[in-house]
Amino acid sequence: MPLVNRMRPFTSTIFAEMSALAVEHDAVNLGQGFPDSDGPAAMLEAAQRAIADGHNQYPPGPGVPALREAVAAQQLDDYGLVYDPDSQVLVTVGATEAIAGAILGLVEPGRDVVMIEPYYDAYAAAVALAGGVRRTVPLVADGDGFALDRDALAAAIGPDTAAVVVNSPHNPTGTILSHDDLAEIARLCVEHDVIAIADEVYEHLVFDGAVHRPLATLPGMAERTLRISGAAKTFHVTGWKVGWLSGPMELVQAARAAKQFLTFVGSGPFQPAVAHALRTEMDWVRSDAQALGRKRTRLSKALADAGFGVHRSEGTYFVCADPRPLGVTDGAAFCRELPARVGVAAVPVSAFVDDPQPWRHMVRFAFAKDDDLIDEAARRLAGLHGKRGQLPS
Ligand code: PMP
Ligand code: GLN
Repeated sequence: MPLVNRMRPFTSTIFAEMSALAVEHDAVNLGQGFPDSDGPAAMLEAAQRAIADGHNQYPPGPGVPALREAVAAQQLDDYGLVYDPDSQVLVTVGATEAIAGAILGLVEPGRDVVMIEPYYDAYAAAVALAGGVRRTVPLVADGDGFALDRDALAAAIGPDTAAVVVNSPHNPTGTILSHDDLAEIARLCVEHDVIAIADEVYEHLVFDGAVHRPLATLPGMAERTLRISGAAKTFHVTGWKVGWLSGPMELVQAARAAKQFLTFVGSGPFQPAVAHALRTEMDWVRSDAQALGRKRTRLSKALADAGFGVHRSEGTYFVCADPRPLGVTDGAAFCRELPARVGVAAVPVSAFVDDPQPWRHMVRFAFAKDDDLIDEAARRLAGLHGKRGQLPS
């Protein structure tokens, strides 16, 4: 086959696969993580205005100044992080391009990139494109949630490590890494003089009074962390593809060198609209996070009622469930069957891991959906009780 070796494991994404099955079977799609409601009206109007006002050509390479300034201001206000909007902030085509740009710009072929398992699929693909070597460090059970295997992290980081990718709040588990876990990551990065790529796209979507603590705020980390975030999840605009990264100038320049030959630029009229939202719509975001927390509880309860074991979700759009009480041990086969069987789509956690064993059964459900849709999914999933034994395992 003509496809290059390094991309062979990446011919399709689990999100596209499960969304296609959801459409085919008219299933409630709790697989791919996108919200089914629009973001703040003023932001949507700002985008329409930007198009009407002629902001339809290439924006500046690093992003429109208003957005870079708003990104810097938000990080100063929320976390006390100081970034110069001109030299330390780069607007990207979604967080996906920020991840790819960072890894392509900073990882020499053959060097290691350490990431937490389960890991968001784009990290593995970007490392493969860069010719780097993926090394994974697992999350392990911690009560009904998860925590970092710190010994495994210490063993994985060494002279071959180019970067550590840290995603908290974490997709797919909904874990917020504890302060002790973050402190250990920071300690090891400083000790080994390693760069951190902190994917914090769910920074605002934390529940139950939790407060997000960026990795860059830990001692010794501001000068070695590229912090990635974006508008997709915060403002319900996954189709706009507006992301950004912030960090020390040399790291931002490295990511920019790669980024400018991936897309050069993108999302011209959406950038001023997101700048407007970052400046004026953070109350909307805070109340959205509260609503999401309630949806997390609603779906978690529905999953428990349907017979799943349910893990604690502290943030993001996602909750992980254990279908073994229903007699299911293979989460991937289960997810492939689920849309046809009961009319619900989900995503197997095994799609995000190298070592499938601890994750083989686990299934991720997205709850950023209308309550009516969550309730409909709950009714459909309740049917699994009656279908026990017919399910693949
Ligand atoms: N990182 C994580 C952890 C994600 O869940 C996603 C999906 N929102 C991305 C990065 C990619 O973000 P974007 O859609 O802005 O490219
Ligand atoms: N980030 C979204 C998720 O985790 C999906 C993004 C995509 O489809 N690539 O579900």
